[in-house]
Amino acid sequence: MKLTKKIENSKKTLFSIEILPPLKGKSIQSIYDGIDPLMEFKPAFVDVTYHREEYIYKKREGGYLEKVSIRKRPGTVGICAAIMNKYDVEAVPHIICGGFTREETENALIDLQFLGIDNVLALRGDSIKTEPAFVPEPNGHAYGLDLVKQISEMNRGMYLDDEMKEAAPTNFCIGVAGYPEKHFEAPNMTSDLKYLKAKVDAGAEYIVTQMFFDNKKYFEFVDLCRKSGINVPIIPGLKILGSKKQIVTLPKIFHIDIPQAFYEELEKCKDDKQIREVGIRWCIEQSKELVKANVPCLHFYTMGASEATKAVAKEVF
Ligand code: FAD
Repeated sequence: MKLTKKIENSKKTLFSIEILPPLKGKSIQSIYDGIDPLMEFKPAFVDVTYHREEYIYKKREGGYLEKVSIRKRPGTVGICAAIMNKYDVEAVPHIICGGFTREETENALIDLQFLGIDNVLALRGDSIKTEPAFVPEPNGHAYGLDLVKQISEMNRGMYLDDEMKEAAPTNFCIGVAGYPEKHFEAPNMTSDLKYLKAKVDAGAEYIVTQMFFDNKKYFEFVDLCRKSGINVPIIPGLKILGSKKQIVTLPKIFHIDIPQAFYEELEKCKDDKQIREVGIRWCIEQSKELVKANVPCLHFYTMGASEATKAVAKEVF
């Protein structure tokens, strides 16, 4: 079922989660172990992230270094199929521009359609870690917008080969990313919103936000979106801060702020256990305020922290 239908049909705020494929070599059981404790809260959908290749240098005989391309977390589509099969819940694969030609994107979307996957989150994807900026594939997409356009065209039965006659239209509900604290490459919020609106005008039916720890940023963002004519559901993304390391890494990786009041609480903690408790408490407060504001869904970036997510969900749902 399309997520937008689920949202329309629900009178209250839904619960959803986002998971990462396990590192290559780990079994699917690690995915089930992460989802099982959260099934009692009836997630409306489970997002599965996509991770492109990385380059590493391997030491070879004679001491020379060979540049090798590896994918540490493959399996997004297989995991989606397995989750739908095991839990009878909607799984949403993330589909990215990076590393894909248009042809490969089309073929990947056909696979998803055949598997009965109705929802996709369309993203540009991050740049390869060793490259300073995002580089599209030759004949690939440079922006999330172009990917949304391709999926929308397939939804209208238009494939890349314009000689194809009577091609079956796909029926994807397309989600895209939004940034309450602005995407780090955007020169300003106005410009970022212009391209977000372009994605919606091209066929995106809902937005999932980057994580934020200050609800004010989300409410202001929703306000700006509405004023810009973006009227689709905007699902807040939440992360439970769970270690001292994350106080530094989350702002660095995701380009978000930790509000001063939260930081002062975190600073008082002696170890990661205390940090986790403060992180859970903060997320419960955030969640309760968002539910009170009648947001469509609370989307938790679990990143393997199912027990912490369960502790929050218990208080909120
Ligand atoms: P875009 O919409 O393409 O925007 C990127 C930047 O370009 C923005 O600054 C925007 O303002 C600007 N822009 C957009 N269109 C144009 C245009 N036509 N001309 C000029 N400028 C333009 N990454 C992964 O690799 N895998 C994942 O699974 C994944 N999941 C994510 C889930 C969520 C909910 C979020 C918020 C992010 C996720 N990311 C993931 C990270 C995401 O890929 C990065 O943030 C990426 O840098 C931007 O992706 P986007 O789709 O928002 O890009």
